[in-house]
Amino acid sequence: MKEKRFETEVVHAGYDSKDHLGSLSTPIYQTSTFTFDSAEQGQRRFAGEEDGYIYGRLGNPTVSALEDRIAALENGEAGLGFATGMAAVSATLIALTKANDHILCSQGLYGCTFGLLSLMRDKYNIQADFISMDTEEQIRQYIRPETSVIYIETPINPTMKVIDLEMVARVAKEYEIPVVVDNTFSSPYIQRPLDLGCDIVIHSATKYIGGHGDVVAGLLVGKEEFISEVAMTTQKDIGGAMSPFDAWLLLRGLKTLPIRMERHSDTAEKIVEHLKAHPNVEQVYYPFDRDNPDYHIAQKQMKLGAGVIAFDVKGGLKDAQAFLNQLSFLKIAVSLGDAETIIQHPATMTHSVVPEVDREKMGISNTLIRMSCGLEAWEDIWQDLEQSLNHMHMTQTN
Ligand SMILES: *Cc1c(COP(=O)(O)O)cnc(C)c1O
Repeated sequence: MKEKRFETEVVHAGYDSKDHLGSLSTPIYQTSTFTFDSAEQGQRRFAGEEDGYIYGRLGNPTVSALEDRIAALENGEAGLGFATGMAAVSATLIALTKANDHILCSQGLYGCTFGLLSLMRDKYNIQADFISMDTEEQIRQYIRPETSVIYIETPINPTMKVIDLEMVARVAKEYEIPVVVDNTFSSPYIQRPLDLGCDIVIHSATKYIGGHGDVVAGLLVGKEEFISEVAMTTQKDIGGAMSPFDAWLLLRGLKTLPIRMERHSDTAEKIVEHLKAHPNVEQVYYPFDRDNPDYHIAQKQMKLGAGVIAFDVKGGLKDAQAFLNQLSFLKIAVSLGDAETIIQHPATMTHSVVPEVDREKMGISNTLIRMSCGLEAWEDIWQDLEQSLNHMHMTQTN
């Protein structure tokens, strides 16, 4: 079948109702194991000589539908579902490295990814460098003979810096180093790293893929060979497999991804303009803001700016906390990509595991706020932000 447009694939790819008694919605195969017709069939399945399901941790039809769908959306050969985004990150990094290797990372990473890298350094002497990846020369300078992965987040959480994926992929090819991209902040509707020459895509499906704040899950997309290696090693034996019900929630959430991303992005652009004009806001960070130094890279590789904004309020830590406490209906919570607008304070929340010196290098100050624009009316979102910004210095209790 000829490939369809994204908006059609997001609804149909990986599932045909004809194979499931005509069920329009993907059935939830809520089972831990699968029966064999004969002892010989069981033997063939375990030997890998016959396709078919064996046991829940090794595969499930509901999860498979989602895996095929995400692979189609990211233009990859195969997908793999995980219990959490971090299960996908850890299974990937452990599969790609051995003791004493080196990983080259973007400067600014999800807090727990940073935590995982610290653990791998302490346990297996795997070193990591965190660099801006602004130029080819800088990347070349940091590549070592033992560099086995280039690991990137873009836009970078939470500072919204953007890395030129095509450029990094070009350099990495010369050295035959795989490039892994955490595409959580964009979703495949906005950015497709494999099309830009990168090798592997990871999602915290908890965020935009699910989109409704009701599931924690992860996804991985890449070449068939790599995905089956992970499925048979670091997923099977470490065990972070996805549950069938979570896969079903994600299949449902995905159907509205394009519509949601348009709205999230539209709202974010409007809120950015208003934040920039407010006297109690020091600076705003958003990929599609014209004043963003990375604006042209963002325009080149992203369809839209997505829904996450970061901004520094004027003052110090107490002012940032007073601002959050003064909000009326907007919720203080970590995570992103939900229908509800949620706001958090990276220095004391998502990135509190990162030592202060590293936080400063990443641009995470004590006044930085990260906000995920939800699907509410943008005027209501702005009204709440504005009243809180207006009052934050008055309500602060020192
Ligand atoms: C949330 C997040 C993760 C981790 O995903 P979980 O589903 O919470 O395990 C990884 N990377 C980024 C960019 C995230 O936002």
